[in-house]
Amino acid sequence: MLLRHHQGIGHRIARLLALAIFFAVLTSALVQTVLQANREVENRRHSMEATAFAMASAAGDAVAEANASKATAALTAVARIPDILMANIQLPDGSTLATMGQTAFLADDVFLKGDSSTSMLFKGLLLVSVDIVKGGAVRGKFSMLADISNLRRQIMLTILTTFAAALLAACAGMAASRPLQRRIVGPLTELTQTIQDIRSSRSYAAKLQDDNTPDEAGILVKAFNGLMSDIQSRDAALQNLAYNDPLTGLSNRLSFQRSLNEWMDNRLSVSAGAVALLNIHGFRAMNDAFSHSIGDALLMTVAATIKSAVREDVTLARYGGDEFALLLRNEDSTADVEMALARVQAAFFKPVQIGELELHVSLTAGVVLLVGQVTPYTSSDEVLRHVDLALADAKSQVAGRLQFFRPELADTVQQDTALGQALRQATKDGAFQLHFQAQFDLRANHVSGFEALVRWRHPVQGPISPAVFIPLAERIGLMSMIGDWVLAEGCKQAATWRRQGLPERIMSINVSPAQILAAGFVEKVRAALRKSGLPPQLLCLELTESMFLGANYAETVIVLETLANDGVVLALDDFGTGYSSLGYLSKLPFHTIKIDRAFVSGADQNQRKQGMLKSIIDMVHALGLAVVAEGAETAGEVALLQRLNVEKVQGYALARPLPPDAAITRANEIDMRYQSLSA
Ligand code: C2E
Ligand code: MG
Ligand code: MG
Repeated sequence: MLLRHHQGIGHRIARLLALAIFFAVLTSALVQTVLQANREVENRRHSMEATAFAMASAAGDAVAEANASKATAALTAVARIPDILMANIQLPDGSTLATMGQTAFLADDVFLKGDSSTSMLFKGLLLVSVDIVKGGAVRGKFSMLADISNLRRQIMLTILTTFAAALLAACAGMAASRPLQRRIVGPLTELTQTIQDIRSSRSYAAKLQDDNTPDEAGILVKAFNGLMSDIQSRDAALQNLAYNDPLTGLSNRLSFQRSLNEWMDNRLSVSAGAVALLNIHGFRAMNDAFSHSIGDALLMTVAATIKSAVREDVTLARYGGDEFALLLRNEDSTADVEMALARVQAAFFKPVQIGELELHVSLTAGVVLLVGQVTPYTSSDEVLRHVDLALADAKSQVAGRLQFFRPELADTVQQDTALGQALRQATKDGAFQLHFQAQFDLRANHVSGFEALVRWRHPVQGPISPAVFIPLAERIGLMSMIGDWVLAEGCKQAATWRRQGLPERIMSINVSPAQILAAGFVEKVRAALRKSGLPPQLLCLELTESMFLGANYAETVIVLETLANDGVVLALDDFGTGYSSLGYLSKLPFHTIKIDRAFVSGADQNQRKQGMLKSIIDMVHALGLAVVAEGAETAGEVALLQRLNVEKVQGYALARPLPPDAAITRANEIDMRYQSLSA
């Protein structure tokens, strides 16, 4: 279509040129011819008039005498002049005195003086008349008719030759215009063809042959080539941006996915290799603690170090923030992968030097083996989902852990999502209860408080342990809402009991890190106290050590100090199971330490355990804090705790967590028993 169009331009130029030449030649020649013919007719007329005048004077006597034979004799001289068809002499009255030659002619065929010059082309006769004067008076008229058809033929011939010459000139012009046509149309044809090729192939590498002629065609070719190189370099920049990580210079996630796809497509039948995802342990904390530029520098160094520790055939990419993905093409067994990744981890034995800083980096890894799967992988998406799960699992364990994907991981996620949905619904419906477990004061011998423990009954699965649904609620962002409910409900219950005239007892409420970090936690505690009317001294908040990990330490400390200033009691829960650094304990406003069941259970039967329990209790006391021992299940354990000078105990030996009424009944029973014992 386009092609026909530009061929048309060439033809049109040729046609136009030919027509122009043709008409130019023709008109100029015609004008010349007509002028020339005019001149010749005039010349002829003049010579005929001269003859006529001579004849008129010769015929003067004959006319004066009205002598016809004399007049006829005079006319015979005229007969000798070639092309004269007719001559006659008339008397003043109009009668013919003498005549010679033809007498009848077509009036239309006669060219008269004063006719337009072109009319001569259509007329074959020329008439000349002069008066015959004798003795000062007009005696008659002499007329002469000449045949000028010869002249007309000649003019016609000239016109024909001119036409042929014009035609010839047009052809010559057309032929001569060929190079010009080619010059104009050539680059256009090439350009059109190239653009069509580019459109169908989508490859912008095409160029036109360089043309240095400084005319428009040359400029067009140059401009087009320039445009193409611009597009190419922009393409390259875009490609680079789309497939590379600008910080580390490694491929990015998209590019990794592409490599994995290609690898899997090629190896569908003999799928081999492994995909590993590495994560820098504690990167966020480092990034927050130092500046982000240190974080960037760390990422660059880690990228370079990993690159230097893997083989050439390994595809390495920055997969996300602090995650690096590896496609290990030749590692087909767990042992192979472990060896390859051990090399990478070994590269980080030495601390990473960033300026003045020495940072210890450890990489946690999740791995998917592409080989030896029961159902071989068919999509890279699935591989990447599984390697993500494996990494998440590794992260939940210890830093530097290497975890291979197991199908159970995917199952857990599925269960998580089903349970998460039910939990979300329960949160909406407020389908939780509180159970209360008594805390017994070993010195005063009475129930000094309760710990509120949340309970959830799944509509199908029945009661779900808080040890299961609380971490899930934290993962899916529901914990803050559930915790707020527990806080308000716990305070309300404690205040109700107090108004009923029951003994003053402290209500302990567990607080998760998500709650503390959510905005307005202090306000929520104050509101719960205000609404219920519970004095702050009767509220104890139980916090775990995990609260002090990570970047939000300073924020957490401010919240705790504010609450302590309000008079709220603070207890550190599950002491001994976490990081148990006593260093920060002395700096924080804790009143009580709850020693975990792990240290209490069986301590009365085991000397070593007993020694450990004793030293923990002594240490806590040395810091000026009170001890609550958790999970005492036997009378022997309770007795031991009493001997070790523990302030309070909580455990099945005294009371299980119970619904409100049952909890009070149980607490009253205990109080009564110990009162009667001490009485
Ligand atoms: P925790 O705060 O350490 O609570 C004590 C847990 O130990 C409770 O488990 C309690 O039933 C159990 N326990 C008490 N005495 C004994 C004993 O003698 N033997 C044994 N084997 N266990 C005993 P529960 O209710 O399953 O709660 C588990 C954990 O869930 C709690 O540990 C706490 O960390 C969390 N949790 C429970 N309710 C809440 C809540 O309302 N908010 C938050 N943030 N966490 C909660
Ligand atoms: Mg607790
Ligand atoms: Mg505990």
